[in-house]
Amino acid sequence: MMSWEKNVRKVVPYVAGEQPKNPNIIKLNTNECPYPPAPGVGAALHGFDCSILKRYPDPDAALLVEALARRHGLSPKQVFVGVGSDDVLAMAFMTFFQSGKPILFPDITYSFYDVWADLYQIPYECQPLDEYFCIRKEDYFKENGGIIIANPNAPTGVLAQVSVLEEIIKANPDSVVIIDEAYVDFGGESCAGLINQYENLLVTQTFSKSRSLAGLRIGYAMGSEKLIHYLNDVKFSFNSYTMNAVTIAAGIASVEDEAYLQDTVAKVVRTRERVKKELSDLGFIFPDTMTNFIFAAHETVPAQEIFEALRTNGIYVRYWNKPRISNYLRISIGTDEEMDKLISFLKDYFGSCYTGGQKG
Ligand SMILES: *Cc1c(COP(=O)(O)O)cnc(C)c1O
Repeated sequence: MMSWEKNVRKVVPYVAGEQPKNPNIIKLNTNECPYPPAPGVGAALHGFDCSILKRYPDPDAALLVEALARRHGLSPKQVFVGVGSDDVLAMAFMTFFQSGKPILFPDITYSFYDVWADLYQIPYECQPLDEYFCIRKEDYFKENGGIIIANPNAPTGVLAQVSVLEEIIKANPDSVVIIDEAYVDFGGESCAGLINQYENLLVTQTFSKSRSLAGLRIGYAMGSEKLIHYLNDVKFSFNSYTMNAVTIAAGIASVEDEAYLQDTVAKVVRTRERVKKELSDLGFIFPDTMTNFIFAAHETVPAQEIFEALRTNGIYVRYWNKPRISNYLRISIGTDEEMDKLISFLKDYFGSCYTGGQKG
């Protein structure tokens, strides 16, 4: 190895779900929303005055921050925006997990958490979920350097009650507790209502799932003024202009159409509920989900085999060959038409013993 190479920061990067070039595949592998974003987003982009691009954007993204603050009933000083919640979470790890003590998160969760911990050389200890993929709150009542919990959790889809999370937040006044609510719009209760009570609570959300804007890259954090202030100090020490002017304009249009968000979420939830039924008729078992995906194992056929068969036939879902979850597929909720194709493929695949929804 060349001598300079010894001094390189070496990390094992996060592996995102595939973004295939072929537009004809059925893409149920990255929890995107199958419907377009709110119509106001297109209008904002079409009407965008390009002459303002000669200037730097507003480093505070104040108009977007204010729109989000209004939506959540918070002060703008309690809101921080970034380039997707991945950017916000990476910034939060860098800002708040500085104690040198291990941070805590579940053993099965968003697989970016251990990557950021490694990147910033933050020690961590994974806490095992129980056999139903539920958090055991006692695991978070010990000394730690911070806590991050996705709620609902990914890739399991399991929702923890706000009261349980509140006990964890309350038991850890010396740590920052981050609740990652990427999927909360699909049926979970948000912890954002606890922000004025707990100075150590940071709640993150994203425009990538329920708002159909994964390609735009907007995420945000809500917390006490102090937490948001510290986050901004780090952000302004890193890159003042994370949010570009086009994204800010389009993002505001999305936030201003609450009815469209609720309609979209309702459509996804309706599809999810019927797909749950069809998957159980086909012999799948899964924890109940409060997200736009289902984390399912089959009674008899190994997940990896189903995954490969689906993939060969142009249906992409997500599979991890990792301890405890190697027999599960994470299936995002697409349109009704896409889900019909998935179900019809699976019916054929499992053969005659599963036809007509009767288990053989
Ligand atoms: C999708 C996702 C994110 C990141 O989303 P962004 O596109 O970066 O906003 C964060 N946390 C969880 C649990 C997710 O599933």
